Amino acid sequence: MTNPLLSTWDTQFALAPFDKISDADFAPAFEEALLAHKADVAAIADNAEAPTFANTIEAMEAAGEGLDKVLSVFFTVAGADSNPAREALQREFSPKLAAHSAEISANKALFGRIKSIWEARDTLDLTEEQQRVLMLTHRGFVRGGAALEGAEDARMKEIKSRLAVLGTEFTQNLLADEREWFMPLAEVDLEGLPDFVVDAARAAGEEKEVGGPVVTLSRSLIVPFLQFSPRRDLREKAFAAWAARGANGGATDNREIAAEILSLREERAKLLGYASFADYKLETEMAKTPGAVRDLLMAVWEPAKARAEADAAVLTEMMHADGVNGDLAPWDWRYYAEKRRKAEHDLDEAALKPYLQLDRMIEASFACATRLFGLEFKELDVPLYHEDCRAWDVTRNGEHVAVFIGDYFARGSKRSGAWCSAMRAQAKFPEVQAPVVINVCNFAKGDPALLSYDDARTLFHEFGHALHQMLSNVTYESISGTSVARDFVELPSQLYEHWLEVPEVLAEYATHAETGSAMPNEMLEKVLGAANFDQGFATVEYVASALVDLAFHEGAAPKDPMAKQSEVLAELGMPAAITMRHATPHFAHVFAGDGYSSGYYSYMWSEVMDADAFEAFDEAGSAFDPETAKALEAHILSTGGSVDAGQLYERFRGRLPGVEALLKGRGLAA
Ligand SMILES: [Zn+2]
Repeated sequence: MTNPLLSTWDTQFALAPFDKISDADFAPAFEEALLAHKADVAAIADNAEAPTFANTIEAMEAAGEGLDKVLSVFFTVAGADSNPAREALQREFSPKLAAHSAEISANKALFGRIKSIWEARDTLDLTEEQQRVLMLTHRGFVRGGAALEGAEDARMKEIKSRLAVLGTEFTQNLLADEREWFMPLAEVDLEGLPDFVVDAARAAGEEKEVGGPVVTLSRSLIVPFLQFSPRRDLREKAFAAWAARGANGGATDNREIAAEILSLREERAKLLGYASFADYKLETEMAKTPGAVRDLLMAVWEPAKARAEADAAVLTEMMHADGVNGDLAPWDWRYYAEKRRKAEHDLDEAALKPYLQLDRMIEASFACATRLFGLEFKELDVPLYHEDCRAWDVTRNGEHVAVFIGDYFARGSKRSGAWCSAMRAQAKFPEVQAPVVINVCNFAKGDPALLSYDDARTLFHEFGHALHQMLSNVTYESISGTSVARDFVELPSQLYEHWLEVPEVLAEYATHAETGSAMPNEMLEKVLGAANFDQGFATVEYVASALVDLAFHEGAAPKDPMAKQSEVLAELGMPAAITMRHATPHFAHVFAGDGYSSGYYSYMWSEVMDADAFEAFDEAGSAFDPETAKALEAHILSTGGSVDAGQLYERFRGRLPGVEALLKGRGLAA
């Protein structure tokens, strides 16, 4: 019998036959599909015919179909509905996949073919999209070190494996420091803490088996503790431990690891011919150069610092009125900011929740897509991997566009967070395939299920990613949907969050679960007003981290990263009561792996764009302006990575994004 993962999926919309797949099918299907992909790649690399776009680049695009099928199902269930068997399989598959892709990028014969096609590119009469795929393929191999020979090639391999070891050590040291420290709380220390913090402190104490509540260094516990505890001495103690993660001396200290990582990254970039690691890293991004990143961050820095300083004065006054003299310290900020928030914007989450029913919010996210892009949604009855999953047939003018799957509820078998992935990406080569896109969230179940405002934002955010996949209209899968630069990929998702805040959307869909009445205006205004509270603080702690990250990777690697960090902060004039959101010894985004190294700016880059992009609708006079929606789809949502991100944005907006809309949105505009 054929393995159901590898058989032809003879189902409605060729969905994976979840009712026929069992855990025992994964390993044999994986092995078979991996071997098949290896054979495909070998056949392309060793082809006796002269290299052409069709027999090399397109052949690579078409290869590995079986592996795609197996992995799309496996990673979906491993993330959203895991069990010990699936966890064991994941531990087995991950290193094999890493080795497999390393083997492909080190294949000299394959690279030789790609290189000769690249060099002949101007004579090949390729479409714009084909030129782009060729450029990306060639660049990917070069950046991986495929063009290096002899000693340089060997050194690159050494650097890569040493960096992998250091990244893991950095993470493990950080986890060890976070696990190690806790602060027991006496019953009297709980005064002033809201129930949810007390509950979390008790649960943490039980986990540590210390017979009473504790504060730990988990962000979800220490941040609310700093926000609500009136005990300044305890806040100071907890903050000091939190700030010292990764810098406690001894075996778990990350400072030397950070220095070694930075120096190896610089060496790696130089081997590949780049002036610095930041130049290497940013080449593939929309930002492209360290200078462009710095310009953006500095344009936001000054207004944010001014706002933070003004806020610091208000909070200091509140502290003095509280009978505490002296300067506002980093362990005071969140506490007085919370008091101020309560006084100025008190939003009662408990009263808000009944207005945010999950089903109504799903309807709202669909309805906006109907008005903007003409998409229609019809629920399907198909077998999926868990009874909580729902699926919809997405159509436009009666034509099938995509299948959308929503897996909304939290459960023990699901990892935390929310995400969007394409179980099948849109493509037209080697044949037309419609996308199958899934959103996974962790909302609490209920009857009816109710969301917090943050949850509702998450729902719209992930659906924005889903639209980027579903409206994709390109030929090649490698550049389809969300296969775009990292600093561009959050544009569609963050942009879509804006439609939740359109008053007419909330007025229609935020209806009370029991009475059915619309959200009162006063509540609506509070919801919308709370969004930019304390943004001076949030922006300063974030931008400072992003600028330190950039400084680390621009130019020569610092011998002493801690000294470099102090130097950057001093030059910026960092406000005394605010620290970096992530200081160097625990800056996992930058040191746990390569993902966000000299890339921490990208969250703000995307936010600048989403604010600026939504303003195009404002300027057109309506959040549903049809012409603007058409341009958004034509230039951003349908184009995947087929065109440079900066060009796409300019085609949509007629210019590159400016920071004004972001400053306004965060309440930082002068
Ligand atoms: Zn996202």
